[in-house]
Amino acid sequence: MRITNGHNLRIALQNDGRLTGRSLELLRGIGLEFEEHERRLFARCRNADVELLFIRDDDIPEYVQDGVADMGIVGRNVVIEKRARVDELEPLGFGFCTLVLAVPRESAATAPRDLAGRRIATTHPVALRAYLDREGLDARIVEIRGAAEVAPALDVADAICDLVSTGTTLRMNDLRRVGDLFESQAVLVASGAAMEDEERAALIERLRVRLRGLLTARRMKYVTLNAPRSALPRIQEILPGMKSPTVVPLAEEGMVALHAAVEEEVFWDVMERIKDAGGSEILVLPVEKVMR
Ligand code: ATP
Ligand code: MG
Repeated sequence: MRITNGHNLRIALQNDGRLTGRSLELLRGIGLEFEEHERRLFARCRNADVELLFIRDDDIPEYVQDGVADMGIVGRNVVIEKRARVDELEPLGFGFCTLVLAVPRESAATAPRDLAGRRIATTHPVALRAYLDREGLDARIVEIRGAAEVAPALDVADAICDLVSTGTTLRMNDLRRVGDLFESQAVLVASGAAMEDEERAALIERLRVRLRGLLTARRMKYVTLNAPRSALPRIQEILPGMKSPTVVPLAEEGMVALHAAVEEEVFWDVMERIKDAGGSEILVLPVEKVMR
């Protein structure tokens, strides 16, 4: 099906970095078809009036704010750092990281307040400034461009403020985490101007609904199972917080088949309890798409 209302929608994505692969995969997941971008600035969608713009992630918040792009996929940390006025539409469930304070392993500091009067190297000066002001902490920000994790070894700083996901980089550089500023993940953002334009807003809304459906589907499993009718009340109690499952009588007297969607986080727990309650022939299927 063609997503079109004769209006071009431009979506800004990270050109080449941690978010690029998952961003493209999400857009394909909601039915947009396009060629690999291969170092080009633009890619047109074959089946939609949508154009992808590939740029450095630092530029995405401002480009969306200024209406150069109508939507963007970028780390929330970058939106914060650029103080961009954009509408955050959806968290996207990837690109998870935390902005942290860290010190060399041999440092005496164990908490953020121990950094008073010290130098903190960072590529996130805006977020760090806001944090220091909020905490009433008087430290000097050393703004750098490249890798913050080497700054203490070079005696450019006493501590760093940097993004971490697993903490491997910190460990590899003999650094120890002493405080967290905030958590971040990739988010879908839209420009205020596009949201005020009726036609573009309608297209944005369609893409957003598809994205939500895809993200919800990824958190769900579709389960079918057989059970004695007498076990139904118990099984329905176990199936957590969802609308009533579909129940179909089976040819075998007193037996029913149940169909239900179960959230991934509770999936194993729910399956085990259903089995204990008398469920059998449990079949689990991935959920492809959900429209609500
Ligand atoms: P660009 O060349 O586009 O400016 P970059 O080097 O600034 O790229 P990446 O390192 O690709 O950016 O990270 C992009 C985003 O990925 C970050 O802004 C952040 O939201 C997220 N992210 C997830 N995990 C990490 C991590 N461990 N370190 C840094 N960023 C991470
Ligand atoms: Mg960047």
